[in-house]
Amino acid sequence: MIDLRSDTLTRPTEAMRQAMARAEVGDDVYGEDPAVRALEERVAGLFGHEAALFTPTGSMANVLAVGSLVRPGQEVICESSAHIARAELGAHATIGGVTMRTWTGQRGRLDLPAVRRMFAPDMGPFFVPTAAVSVENTHNFAGGAVLPIEDLRDLREWADGVGAGVHLDGARLWNAHVATGTPLVEYGAIATVLAVCLSKGLGAPVGSLMVGGRDAVDEARVRRKRMGGGMRQAGILAAGGLHALDHHVDRLAEDHEHARLLAEACGLDPAEVDTNIVVVERSDATEFVTRAGEEGVRVSVVGPTTVRMVTHLDVSRADAERAAAVLARL
Ligand SMILES: *Cc1c(COP(=O)(O)O)cnc(C)c1O
Repeated sequence: MIDLRSDTLTRPTEAMRQAMARAEVGDDVYGEDPAVRALEERVAGLFGHEAALFTPTGSMANVLAVGSLVRPGQEVICESSAHIARAELGAHATIGGVTMRTWTGQRGRLDLPAVRRMFAPDMGPFFVPTAAVSVENTHNFAGGAVLPIEDLRDLREWADGVGAGVHLDGARLWNAHVATGTPLVEYGAIATVLAVCLSKGLGAPVGSLMVGGRDAVDEARVRRKRMGGGMRQAGILAAGGLHALDHHVDRLAEDHEHARLLAEACGLDPAEVDTNIVVVERSDATEFVTRAGEEGVRVSVVGPTTVRMVTHLDVSRADAERAAAVLARL
């Protein structure tokens, strides 16, 4: 079976398991796990921020990151199919007391004029004040679309002017970095706070990080514990992440190439596939998924007429070619 449902399905490689087994660990709630500390310092440095916090999931990293900017009763503005709006099961509302308004961007893009129109300054007891704008790069439900760095720079400049924070959901920011060559530190520079995942394309079994200023991360460390996310000898997991940063970033280019093969097989323009996600519109989406499964290719339905396939570390070139042949036939 070639499993293209998600890049979260990867299993740790033998070398990653070795690195995890060798990890030097301690109690991270006491701040004494060397592997976790090394990972946090390294990732903060990659993005040019002061600090980072290891979390069990990207959703928790996002809740902590958004929560560092948006207080209960305030709002964050985001794109209408953003992961924080659609796929975190109301966490920002139920845990953070955060409300949201959305714009709808073509392929998940930022619409700065719309954001400007929506922005609400704090005027006392009248309107929900806008505390932050959130962007997602790459954009998951827009098919792994890369947001142009120029748009993000414009956003940050405007946000600084009005005193709003910028949250970057960078679950797959590594893919954007590899696809565009934009240095990670430049993505870091447009964000007040960001979240990145190790458990997607990078192939680590568990783990994400919230990245930001020292004070925001210190506060998030307390909130993480309150949410039940204080992990003890988590260095076992952090070591998998460190290994992934050493060995699995540049190879994302292969996943992108494989995604273009799949797109071509489905009759799409491969130039429109930015990274490792291919989204296909099919009126018979559910049946299509069943038939692909019968031929050994697992893909998923993410909307009534939308099929999604994601390439990753456990999909070889030969797998991608075999999957492409099946998809072309269907
Ligand atoms: C996967 C993902 C997350 C985090 O997901 P978890 O399953 O909680 O780790 C956040 N944002 C985006 C865009 C994602 O694709």
